[in-house]
Amino acid sequence: MNPTVSTPLPWHQTVFAQWLSRQHSERPAHASLIIAPEDTGGEQLVEAMAAAVLCESPTSEQHACGICGSCQLIAAFSHPDYRLLRPSIMDMAHPIEEMRPEKPSKEITIDDVRALDNMVNQTSHRGGKRVVVVYPAHKLNRNAANALLKTLEEPPENTLFILLAHDVQQLIPTIVSRCQLVVAGAPSPESAVTYLNSITPNPRWAEYLQQENGAVMRVAELIRTDYFSIEQNFIEQLSRGQDIDVIAVATALEKHIKDADKARLAGAPKTIDMATLITWLQRWAHDLTLMAQKGGAARYYPKYAQAMAKTIDNAPASLAIQVHAWQLELARERRIADHPLNIRSWIEKLLLAYVALI
Ligand SMILES: [Zn+2]
Repeated sequence: MNPTVSTPLPWHQTVFAQWLSRQHSERPAHASLIIAPEDTGGEQLVEAMAAAVLCESPTSEQHACGICGSCQLIAAFSHPDYRLLRPSIMDMAHPIEEMRPEKPSKEITIDDVRALDNMVNQTSHRGGKRVVVVYPAHKLNRNAANALLKTLEEPPENTLFILLAHDVQQLIPTIVSRCQLVVAGAPSPESAVTYLNSITPNPRWAEYLQQENGAVMRVAELIRTDYFSIEQNFIEQLSRGQDIDVIAVATALEKHIKDADKARLAGAPKTIDMATLITWLQRWAHDLTLMAQKGGAARYYPKYAQAMAKTIDNAPASLAIQVHAWQLELARERRIADHPLNIRSWIEKLLLAYVALI
């Protein structure tokens, strides 16, 4: 099969088969809402659904063949009866240069939804169905969501809508009620490790998965970068407690963040930015809080449990309260993390706040 047409990941095979059988029944859905946790392969699933419906020569299991005219057009991003509706910022590194946005938006706008009218009001170019995929559907802004709702209320003929969101609560209930709900779960840790090992064997997959809250596709992407080694070095420094070299750490991180920024503009995956750094600190704070409780165990960085225990022993008795205040501060900092004036001094401030409480 042509690898450029999406196939669902192993843990989505059953849900995919069930959905296909409904689509081939007498009462297929006009709109499906797929719920899958972030970075667990939901995108591949909805794209595989779209490709299967549009395929002109599906396999015996009704999957896309990967070689027919329709499958080739999908792979070339030029199928006239297929639209992918997503925030234009996600197209910044689109393989086709003309498809990169001039003014990237983090939301799906009403103009994006209106641009569908042309397609859904004409007859299908290739004589089959038309498919509109929307993801992440919670990025529809209010006006766009209302416009899409109108379309779903009076569904155009022969058109299938497939929405993907991470949580059903993120969508307005009127949209949810118009869709067939499909819950596509996350993989178990074991199947995620099996999958990652099938790409590249690595004895640390389970550890990375735990750190990234089971976001298997994000882990698969990050392993191609120096993300995990930067994180490891940073946590190593935090584990030194009062002996952390604040200036050296801040200088090194500033460089990594600037390098990652440059690489991202060239189409590299999102790796480390200021928000990532806050996340690592929040995880460290979370683990410290757990460890400070009687019988508590670290959730994210169990490898450093001993260093954490030592920090807790040496810290003032009010550590738990102080860490809680620091967590609130981190949450506030996270909101401005996109725009610090000076990255290095911002990191120094965050680290000094930590050193002050232990
Ligand atoms: Zn095909």
